Amino acid sequence: MPHIFIDRDGVLNEYLSKDYVKSPQEWVWIPNAIKGLKILKELNYKIYIVSNQSCINRKIISWKTINAINSQLRRQLLKEKIYIEEIIICPHINEDLCSCRKPKPGMLNTLMQIYQMDKQDIFFAGDSISDLDAGKNANIKVVGLASGNPNMATSKRTNIKQYKSLYRLARQLQGSLKP
Ligand SMILES: [Mg+2]
Ligand SMILES: [Zn+2]
Repeated sequence: MPHIFIDRDGVLNEYLSKDYVKSPQEWVWIPNAIKGLKILKELNYKIYIVSNQSCINRKIISWKTINAINSQLRRQLLKEKIYIEEIIICPHINEDLCSCRKPKPGMLNTLMQIYQMDKQDIFFAGDSISDLDAGKNANIKVVGLASGNPNMATSKRTNIKQYKSLYRLARQLQGSLKP
């Protein structure tokens, strides 16, 4: 069973420089992101969202709000028959010294433990250097998506494959299965 871990901001919803999605109304889908998820589902991927949301511990938004944002996300995707196995959030700031804030691998390790996954069946797709490093720290395959954080485009991580967006990655995976 293949699993894909995906980052949220800059992958599913439009990248906001130095800002956060502070309410369900502020959510803006990246074009074709839902189509990309749909393809991943057709390819039998189990999908997990892994997101740093330090805005929670910065008291910019509450857990109640993040839950409302997650509910809206799930509702909109279920309309398209896309089920998300898990949405896992790190609420911490650097100073909290938690083990989950990416690039730390805590959230990825937690998912692997709960779902008893084989590392070779997983990869992680994100738009930030911290995503790439989290994947590396968890010792799983990782790909970069250039749909969000502009730092990715200038990243010197030449050993890591990059795609324009989640949709392009999904199309690539779809194509590679064709005879
Ligand atoms: Mg991101
Ligand atoms: Zn954390």
